[in-house]
Amino acid sequence: MKALVYKGPGRKEWADKEKPAIQRPTDAIVRITNTTICGTDLHILKGDVPAVTDGRTLGHEGVGVIEETGSAIRNFRKGDRVLISCITSCGSCANCKRQLYSHCADGGWILGHLIDGTQAEYVRIPHADNSLYPIPDGADKEALVMLSDILPTGFEIGVLAGQVAPGDFVAIVGAGPVGMAALLTAQFYSPGRLVMLDTDPNRLEVAKQLGATDVINVADGKAIETLRAMTGGTGVDVAIEAVGIPATFDICQQVVAPGGRIANVGVHGKPVELHIENLWIQNITIAMGLVNTNTTPLLMKTVQSGRISPAQLITHRFALNDILKAYDVFSAAAKEKALKVILKADA
Ligand SMILES: [Zn+2]
Ligand SMILES: [Zn+2]
Repeated sequence: MKALVYKGPGRKEWADKEKPAIQRPTDAIVRITNTTICGTDLHILKGDVPAVTDGRTLGHEGVGVIEETGSAIRNFRKGDRVLISCITSCGSCANCKRQLYSHCADGGWILGHLIDGTQAEYVRIPHADNSLYPIPDGADKEALVMLSDILPTGFEIGVLAGQVAPGDFVAIVGAGPVGMAALLTAQFYSPGRLVMLDTDPNRLEVAKQLGATDVINVADGKAIETLRAMTGGTGVDVAIEAVGIPATFDICQQVVAPGGRIANVGVHGKPVELHIENLWIQNITIAMGLVNTNTTPLLMKTVQSGRISPAQLITHRFALNDILKAYDVFSAAAKEKALKVILKADA
């Protein structure tokens, strides 16, 4: 089979690889029909995630069809259509028992990281009964790819951790796919103002279409003053950081109102300067984390009912065989006006 293989920092290859086989009774083999590329994959390719070793198949998002099941699998049969969660979970360890799937003792984020991932014709999914979700008949497969990672990440780590409530003034810093996922799912709670901040005018335009009440281009360096003015000087109830650099975290800590919440979703590679000397007296809550995907069934229902339509995040489509072209486009996201690129195995 073909797979997108990491060959060390800066190098990748669409290579021939052996088709995965069942290794444990709790495994399933899935034939990929649709997958995508995540910002995390670009981090890996830069060499930012040293746990990923030469020869690893990348990718942790996708949908497909069950090809084969291990003898212990009870929930799925050959031919079933499934959504792959970016988080593998056994369902029975101490952390899984409290729905902290991201810290499963025999799972967590391992796909396209510690084991071969979804940017391939086939993938082996450990603990498949708990790590795959059945796809309802008639569902939009492409839209459901957004449920593997970005929608639960924006929702759980941004919206839920930020405790978005009716009437709140919410600022989302970073209009990438995960920031957009927070924008879509924040609307479940009817915030009063939902402001998107970014440097890319195209992404800000998309954010307006997806429900942002206001947008701020931070390129002029006046985002903090602008937000303060918009809130009459008090600051925002919820600041969602969806970039992962010190400058964007700093905007959040400077604009949060007394009693407010900072929800950090961005993946940081460097320390940030935490102004605890100002924040402590303001009763600020700071949250951060890795997605648990325990809200995936809930989000699946909201997509099925049309309450949110994550297909709006898809800007480009490629055949799986053209994945190297898709990487080029996604790597030049601003120039190409790319948000999510979808790869289709049957295209
Ligand atoms: Zn991802
Ligand atoms: Zn577990």
